[in-house]
Amino acid sequence: MKIAICVKEVPDPGAPRRLDPASGRLVRSADTALNPYDRHAIEAGVQLREGAAAGAEVTIVTMAPASAARTVDKALAQGGDRSVHLADDALSGSDLLATSYALAELLRRDAYDLVLFGQSAADSECYVLPAAVAERLERPCVTQVAALELVEGVLRVKRQVETGYETLELPLPAVLSVADTLNEPRYATLPAIMGAKRKPHELLSVDELGLDPGRIGQGGSRARVRGLSAPPPRGEGVRIEDAGDAAERILEFLVERRLVA
Ligand SMILES: Cc1cc2nc3c(=O)[nH]c(=O)nc-3n(C[C@H](O)[C@H](O)[C@H](O)COP(=O)(O)OP(=O)(O)OC[C@H]3O[C@@H](n4cnc5c(N)ncnc54)[C@H](O)[C@@H]3O)c2cc1C
Repeated sequence: MKIAICVKEVPDPGAPRRLDPASGRLVRSADTALNPYDRHAIEAGVQLREGAAAGAEVTIVTMAPASAARTVDKALAQGGDRSVHLADDALSGSDLLATSYALAELLRRDAYDLVLFGQSAADSECYVLPAAVAERLERPCVTQVAALELVEGVLRVKRQVETGYETLELPLPAVLSVADTLNEPRYATLPAIMGAKRKPHELLSVDELGLDPGRIGQGGSRARVRGLSAPPPRGEGVRIEDAGDAAERILEFLVERRLVA
């Protein structure tokens, strides 16, 4: 069985985000990190390899500048067997449409049985790339998976919805995005960190993958940033001093604004 885990290098989630006024894009040159939500997808893949999908190969897949190699190593140290890294200046400025096209072609090439994503990316937070990739690959897709089992080649998943949990079954090949409640990602051990560099690492360009240059990068993107503006300053707020009736007054305040029924 072939399992792909899609991972993204993001600006350090702990640092304030900055938009470049000239390009309208997020500044991604600052300190970087492995998207924290992807660690849950890696853990899910590794657990499958250790259990129901014994012998499976777990491939870390990314589309990112070549400088993201260190981030890929972090994902390998957490348990990936090999990595495939699509890196090309021509990809810069890719919106969701272009990113989903490039990533889907990368995944299509290796015909994975299961593609796992984190629930979202901590920088762009679209929550939609997994579904867009699944659509392009014409594979079933479930997002926000909170429990996952592989039983005789069929995936049984649970996802949280407003009214409770849905339990769904889907055949392989499939695409899932996993919720951060699915598991507790393991920490990489020192030998695993040292060993990550020796794992097979494939670096691909746009030409090598045979991508249509008109469908990637800024030129292949449909989203246009038309302007940037700072959020309005916060108002004064309402201060409620407790004279024994604070709870009632807070409730009144919330009900007036229809924040609770
Ligand atoms: C006009 C415009 C220009 C942009 N330019 C750039 C740019 O130059 N560089 C840039 O990095 N982003 C750029 N973006 C953002 C990029 O389009 C989004 O990253 C992409 O659409 C995916 O959305 P998301 O990252 O919010 O992922 P989500 O929809 O939140 O999906 C989450 C899952 O997808 C995975 N994922 C996301 N991106 C990748 C990837 N590249 N490889 C593997 N897995 C991935 C995450 O790791 C996570 O597991 C641009 C967006 C716009 C609108």
